[in-house]
Amino acid sequence: MSGEKSLGDIRKGIDEIDEAITRLLEKRMDHVRDVAEHKKKTGMAIHDPEREKQILERILSRVENPGYREPIRSVYSEIMKASREYQARLIASPGTGIARYGLIGEKLSHSLSPGIHSLFFREHGIDAEYDLIEAKHDELPGLLDSLRSRGYLGLNVTIPYKKEILPYLDSLSDEAMHIGAVNTICLRDVYKGYNTDYDGFGMALVEYGVKTEGARCAVLGSGGAARAVVAYMEDHGASGITIVSRDPDSAMMKFPGLSCADISAFSAAGYDLVVNTTPVGMFPEESGSPLCKEQLEGAGFVMDLIYNPEKTVLLRYSEELGIPCANGLYMLVAQAFRSEEIWQDKTLDKSLVNKVIEEIRRGR
Ligand code: NAP
Repeated sequence: MSGEKSLGDIRKGIDEIDEAITRLLEKRMDHVRDVAEHKKKTGMAIHDPEREKQILERILSRVENPGYREPIRSVYSEIMKASREYQARLIASPGTGIARYGLIGEKLSHSLSPGIHSLFFREHGIDAEYDLIEAKHDELPGLLDSLRSRGYLGLNVTIPYKKEILPYLDSLSDEAMHIGAVNTICLRDVYKGYNTDYDGFGMALVEYGVKTEGARCAVLGSGGAARAVVAYMEDHGASGITIVSRDPDSAMMKFPGLSCADISAFSAAGYDLVVNTTPVGMFPEESGSPLCKEQLEGAGFVMDLIYNPEKTVLLRYSEELGIPCANGLYMLVAQAFRSEEIWQDKTLDKSLVNKVIEEIRRGR
């Protein structure tokens, strides 16, 4: 009887069983690898939910103690999930088990994402590759299935597909639902969309010590990035949000309930936070600024989502006026960091964001 045994003896018994299970799991993974090879040759889907259901039922029917059925069900569900993921990696990069991730967009040659994600992979010892996947509009239907069958486990999405990809997803995170656009997809049994621009923006504000609770905020531009920024401000207690647009009437339709101002007549005086989400001032047209210097006077903090150049004209004006400010580099790396956390399904060390930023600056 276990009650008569010492704790040390009980644990020794468990250790022995764990060793035996590990050996058996290794043998099981050898078979999983053979199945992956077969699936690759025949083009069979990695996931066969009906077959998994039958296997699980057969296994559970052999469990003698009814109290153990649920824990054993959980263990087997995890084993099956791990097997599928291992197969996906093998099919992506035969013989290496390298995981595959990538960015979907229209024109991607200037993207910093492969460099950023490679640094994350290196720092975390993750054996993975990150590809640029340029796609045309008419390629979107079927694209996710095709990438999944080629072993991709996660994707980023950029202009112009952050909304267009929505019909091909099975579910959305709360933030993505609120924003109505995604920049990150987890390609597992279900295709789930996330918006890590939202998280990246929030992490940047925390990094710079800027609070949105009770703050009066102005957002320049009414496009995709503005949606993520506004959603974050709404969820984090901003006392007022003004959309500053070239076309306030159409901005009002896009952001019902928010006040909208004409960018040509806008003054930042009295705003705690001004965020530029327009592309004005971005490489290669670096001489532009969405606001002139006088319009910026009186702002509490200015954040430009542009990261190339590092110092836009808008940020130069802010500095000349003595207004604390920041560019979009931290947000860019932080949104990639959050994508990694989602794909790897674990919490990563946040200090990695600054480490990656330093490496990017060194390489520039
Ligand atoms: P978008 O959907 O095209 O929206 C940009 C908005 O800016 C437009 O809706 C427009 O709003 C305004 N705008 C465009 N041209 C303008 C002009 N010439 N003068 C004044 N306003 C103009 O683009 P997006 O996806 O939101 O991206 C916007 C910027 O944010 C890009 O520079 C992008 O690189 C940057 N971004 C950075 C990060 C990061 O991580 N740092 C993340 C996402 C985006 P109105 O028509 O209302 O004026």
